[in-house]
Amino acid sequence: MTNIAAFLYLVSGVLFILALRGLSHPATSRKGNLYGMVGMGIAILTTLVLATPDFGGFVLIILGLSIGGSVGAYVARTIAMTSMPQLVAGFHSLVGLAAVLVAASALYTPASFGLGEIGHIHTEARVEMALGVAIGALTFTGSIIAFLKLDGRMSGKPILLPYRHVINAALLALIILFIIGLAVAESHFDFWAVVALSLALGVLLIVPIGGADMPVVVSMLNSYSGWAAAGIGFTLGNLALIITGALVGSSGAILSYIMCKGMNRSFVSVILGGFGGETAASGPDTSDRTVKLGSAEDAAYLMANASKVIIVPGYGMAVAQAQHALRELADNLKKNGVEVKYAIHPVAGRMPGHMNVLLAEANVPYDEVFELEDINSEFAQADVAYVIGANDVTNPAARDDKTSPIYGMPILDVDRAKTCLFVKRSLGSGYAGIDNTLFYKDGTMMLLGDAKKMTEDINKAISH
Ligand code: NDP
Repeated sequence: MTNIAAFLYLVSGVLFILALRGLSHPATSRKGNLYGMVGMGIAILTTLVLATPDFGGFVLIILGLSIGGSVGAYVARTIAMTSMPQLVAGFHSLVGLAAVLVAASALYTPASFGLGEIGHIHTEARVEMALGVAIGALTFTGSIIAFLKLDGRMSGKPILLPYRHVINAALLALIILFIIGLAVAESHFDFWAVVALSLALGVLLIVPIGGADMPVVVSMLNSYSGWAAAGIGFTLGNLALIITGALVGSSGAILSYIMCKGMNRSFVSVILGGFGGETAASGPDTSDRTVKLGSAEDAAYLMANASKVIIVPGYGMAVAQAQHALRELADNLKKNGVEVKYAIHPVAGRMPGHMNVLLAEANVPYDEVFELEDINSEFAQADVAYVIGANDVTNPAARDDKTSPIYGMPILDVDRAKTCLFVKRSLGSGYAGIDNTLFYKDGTMMLLGDAKKMTEDINKAISH
């Protein structure tokens, strides 16, 4: 029986790996999702059969699955695409909480987990439990803070406590001390001390992280939640949980690395916090500058007479759900002989791959969509850069202004195109809270309005 279970867990592990592979490209992402669902189905059924619960236990499990499953399905169906990052952060917090609760039950009823009698849990299990609970508690509170920041219920500005590095280092030292205490003496006090200190560390680690670093934080918490699950997998002796936890942990870590590279930031400086969101006041003084405002007709004229247009989508396109209108506009331009390409910045939108998903949903051909490093040199030959709801990812301050909080982040060089058409509703700043000097440049024309409406109006004007 255990051999069959181990085999089935292995099958689900392989399916999870195929899921990750499938999710790495929009064309295969549906299939990837399906692999993940089948893998999870196999893992749950195997665990259920392996656990052979009595009738009461079985009812409890089914009840838990039904309640959790229904809430999950409802939330996933109703959530707006733009709220996905906070949803993911919310889910991570639940993984962290689950890790803490499982570890607590294992500590108080070790026999039911096959860990021996109270007071005699073997040392390895105590260490696994301690590590799992520490990472779990930290993930729980850290993810709640990330959720509040991403959902706008808490300011995206970094909250910089005095001596925060010293406080964090002291907390970490204490946590390690209590983990050793728990491993040596199985003291319940030490266990709860690890929980309490890790909860506090989770809050303190995330509050100083500013708006522009949130993408890295989300994927970092994703990684933590995986390691917490893997730790608990060891406590429970559950192979599937160990495999899945390790997959989530390592893929989250790789994603964090990619995001850091995309923003030209070191992982350590992200963890230490305080980047981005320093408010518009810290940006350049733009009060006496003028902007060139344009209409849909002006934009239509420029685009129809262009030979090359590069489209730069950002968070505002997601808010306006303008991707379909955008594809129709691109189709119309192509019909008129204009070459059209899409440029995607690694942190555009509010989650990794956000723009790719939206463009794929609107059936934009994949071979027209390019990553930053593959297209940046082409802006200089483009007649028009059509920036639709993007802001931070085009801000030249990241390239030219050493004092800017986002200095060093690679940007899409839209200002090198002959004309830069900027669609947004106001002259306000983007997620990082920094003014964009591009609005005031000679080659820029601001098209103020909703991204979808403006794109539709331009398309109509081109067709006339
Ligand atoms: P930004 O947040 O910089 O800018 C988006 C712009 O869209 C806003 O300035 C807003 O201006 C405009 N906008 C909003 N609604 C509409 C609408 N209906 N129609 C037209 N425009 C609209 O987005 P970017 O994509 O350029 O940059 C992403 C930012 O988010 C980066 O700072 C990144 O670090 C951060 N981030 C990214 C995550 C990721 O994983 N990708 C996760 C979390 C944060 P206005 O209000 O004037 O219309």
